Amino acid sequence: MTTTSYANILKPLHLGFTTIKNRVVMGSMHTGLEDRFYNYPKLAAYFGERAKGGVGLIITGGISPNRQGWLLPAGGTMNTLGDIAPHRLVTHAVHKHGAKILMQILHAGRYGYQPFVVSASPIKSPISPFKPRQLSDKQIVDTIQDYVKTASLAKKSGYDGVEIMGSEGYLLNQFLSRHVNQRTDRWGGDIENRMRLAVDIVKGIRAEVGEKFIICFRLSMLDLVQDGNTMAEVIIVAKALEQAGVTLLNTGIGWHEARIPTIVTSVPRAAFVDYTAEVKKHVAIPVIASNRINMPETAEEILATGKADMVQMARPLLADPFWVNKTATNRVDEINTCIACNQACLDHTFKNQRATCLVNPRAAFETELVYVKTKKPKRIAVVGGGVAGLSAATVAASCGHEVTLFEASNDVGGQFNLAKAVPGKEEFHETIRYFKVQIEKTGVELRLNTKVNREQLEREGFEEVIVATGVVPRALKIEGSHLPQVLSYAEVLRGAPVGNRVAIIGAGGIGFDVSEFLLKPPHQPQPQPLATWQQEWGIDPNPNYISEGGTQPAIVHPPVREIYLLQRKTTALGAGLGKTSGWVHRAQLKKHHVRMLRGVQYKAVTDEGLWIEMAGHDQLLRVDTVVVCAGQESIKDLMPLETEKTLANYHIIGGAKLAAELDAKRAIREGAEIATKL
Ligand code: NAP
Ligand code: SF4
Repeated sequence: MTTTSYANILKPLHLGFTTIKNRVVMGSMHTGLEDRFYNYPKLAAYFGERAKGGVGLIITGGISPNRQGWLLPAGGTMNTLGDIAPHRLVTHAVHKHGAKILMQILHAGRYGYQPFVVSASPIKSPISPFKPRQLSDKQIVDTIQDYVKTASLAKKSGYDGVEIMGSEGYLLNQFLSRHVNQRTDRWGGDIENRMRLAVDIVKGIRAEVGEKFIICFRLSMLDLVQDGNTMAEVIIVAKALEQAGVTLLNTGIGWHEARIPTIVTSVPRAAFVDYTAEVKKHVAIPVIASNRINMPETAEEILATGKADMVQMARPLLADPFWVNKTATNRVDEINTCIACNQACLDHTFKNQRATCLVNPRAAFETELVYVKTKKPKRIAVVGGGVAGLSAATVAASCGHEVTLFEASNDVGGQFNLAKAVPGKEEFHETIRYFKVQIEKTGVELRLNTKVNREQLEREGFEEVIVATGVVPRALKIEGSHLPQVLSYAEVLRGAPVGNRVAIIGAGGIGFDVSEFLLKPPHQPQPQPLATWQQEWGIDPNPNYISEGGTQPAIVHPPVREIYLLQRKTTALGAGLGKTSGWVHRAQLKKHHVRMLRGVQYKAVTDEGLWIEMAGHDQLLRVDTVVVCAGQESIKDLMPLETEKTLANYHIIGGAKLAAELDAKRAIREGAEIATKL
């Protein structure tokens, strides 16, 4: 019997014919490695590492049953015997460590970014340029056969089961809901007809694979789109799927086209678990909770309160493959927490790049970015305790080097200390906590309040110096920019007083963040309570909702300030923000009536406000405060000139190297990479 306080997470789940060793499911996340057979050794290393890290059950990224189902052109497909061999590498790598693995079968339907797309009805989705063809009755029957064949091949590949993707707005969800299904034949109309495709697929697979094979179905428990299903309909589907032979019921929340956030960092932890709990009341099979579960306390509470039988985490296991083992050995403070930024995982997927993780650059690069013990330990100085320096120092120390980290201020964390003050970005403090624990565990010597120069470093005999001195906010250089009402974003986020009418200069990620920071009254509870967050986004809080799709009119409180957000470019504001999170920030500012002006030239700040020129006309914005969010400039004084002779080798990383694209993802990766090369 376990003695840890996470007993429910660690309890095995007996399914009769097989046992899953604990309650943690690594949910499906498309890495891009699934799509090419030659990448399967890398995919095997990626899943193998997570299996070694203790997870009970893994679900692969989506594999299509046929060409029509591709998400991207030539996406991963399983429909011939020739597809089996690469998958065996994956199943073997996972089984070696006692974990189970399911292959997800995903038919994208009208979400496919390719010309063969099909759906229940010929209605184009707002997120794909391709209009789908309506599947005929015969084509639907053929599609069922394709699913059955794929499941049978998955079994031959050594998988413990399959997950059928029936949520997030993909093909089966398109059939399940009136939002897309406007058919009048046996596959459309009432819920009994709309669910026929999903149920027949399960029946077909069960008949083919026998009883001792897991069939998991990912069911949309909250569509969050117009004409979506009601909870009563969701329950009818759940019961029919159970009857048809499903072993596990997984949770899907929101279609990809829904304009309500479901996974970004501002979504409260475990925000949707009550909808899963509602479905669980009506079925006997184990039910899996999902979305914004990233730390053991949250997972344990869901399981302990009986709201679900398992918890699913995809991104948190990209961030830390050893999440379960750390939980099991009471080393929760060592978990590298997923901050739900999407910057290196989902944003990469949508750009057709390999998914990885901002806080863990090894994710999906396990065979390429390898941390090995050095045979020649060196004395290394890392200068700058932002995330670039923290990454370099802790990876170098874990490889066996003797590392000293110098930080000029009284704390580490750099720009993350500012980010964590932004409403909805509270998770960023977890990354700083993680690195602080790593400093201790790896034996990095930390010298705070210490500004060093080259002479001191070389006098101390460091052989390698990593310059991670970061950035300073770029100052505004116009008439009046010295006035006290002109503040940098750093001053504002540290709590400087700000008036009621504000102009924000610069509409990059930080201009948007500062707008959100200034829209709400100070001293709001952080993170935002679930009830007010649901109100703000128009989500029906009743788990037994009767509203179609679980939406209701949003209630937005008036902002506490009048805000102008300005940029010189003439392109749409926020166009450069992350693909999967930018729309959330844009929607927030729009709802709170932030006035977004583009094509602006800044003329002067006076006691009347900010003078600008737009379309050839001078204008006065009557504001009390001007906040400058105009990017950053690198601090690189420590770097010697190429011609200078130095006793140590100097390397520069992160914002100090390139401020133009100040980017935590690049900073952490560069820190880790340089540490492995010393
Ligand atoms: P940024 O994205 O480069 O934006 C800087 C803004 O300042 C631009 O709107 C630019 O637009 C303006 N600007 C540049 N030089 C200027 C000057 N001399 N005078 C006046 N305006 C000037 O930088 P950031 O907002 O500081 O963000 C830095 C990085 O942090 C981003 O690249 C991103 O990786 C990360 N970040 C992302 C998010 C997010 O996605 N939610 C949030 C925070 C931070 P114009 O040139 O058109 O005026
Ligand atoms: Fe989580 Fe961000 Fe890493 Fe994605 S990139 S797994 S959201 S921390």
